[in-house]
Amino acid sequence: MNMREMIKIHQLNKSFGDLHVLKDIDMTVFESDVVCLIGSSGSGKSTLLRCLNFLERKDNGQIIIEGKEVNPRTDNLNKIREKVGMVFQNFNLFPHKTVLENIIEAPIKVKGVSKEDAISKAQQLLSKVGLEDKADVYPSKLSGGQKQRVAIARALAMEPDIMLFDEPTSALDPELVGEVLTTMKDLAEEGMTMVVVTHEMGFAKEVADRIVYMHEGRIVEHGTPEQFFNNPKEERTREFLKSTS
Ligand code: ADP
Ligand code: MG
Repeated sequence: MNMREMIKIHQLNKSFGDLHVLKDIDMTVFESDVVCLIGSSGSGKSTLLRCLNFLERKDNGQIIIEGKEVNPRTDNLNKIREKVGMVFQNFNLFPHKTVLENIIEAPIKVKGVSKEDAISKAQQLLSKVGLEDKADVYPSKLSGGQKQRVAIARALAMEPDIMLFDEPTSALDPELVGEVLTTMKDLAEEGMTMVVVTHEMGFAKEVADRIVYMHEGRIVEHGTPEQFFNNPKEERTREFLKSTS
């Protein structure tokens, strides 16, 4: 069993003004783990992911990525974001760029990859997500599910060690959810370390190695899907599971 710690969070706290959004969060994500982060709206899931990618600044606590504590004041956050890719609910593709241009932008500009290499890698990634014929299309011509698969390919183009997903299927029509979950499942099976905020309990049951349940800024319960869904310890969790079934 591989127990390399890819992410370790220790006593993380974050407030927006008077609103204490993350409370004493402790969490460890091991290599190749898929952790599904679940909880009702407003519980702090997005803020936690954004702290992990340093889009939000923690107030206190430690965030340790691949064994090294990150100091947002002195560390090069772009370097860390190369290791930690993120996929958002609303895709965040550049509308004025083609699919291919969306994917090659960051590898060329941020990582200094040659255009030729970036294109060849992008083409590989597009075929991996089943969109090899869409390279020259603009995002407006794609379905939501296709856009999200491009967003995943774009994140993978940076060759991250960890992928964060913030409700990647919540903005999709129901019939398009499956294709994105399948892409994520493939990635999980290849051994990608993933933290996935999701309301897709079927995905969580099937793909997650561990479930983390948040309520009002705290981790209330965590465990294997088996423990979590079949034998939750906390009353809160039972209520939440009732509300989703
Ligand atoms: P979730 O993703 O679980 O729905 P969020 O992390 O988005 O929860 O939000 C947690 C709480 O923090 C909510 O009350 C939300 O309104 C608040 N919040 C999130 N981002 C900001 C912000 N930039 N400024 C002020 N409040 C915020
Ligand atoms: Mg959210």
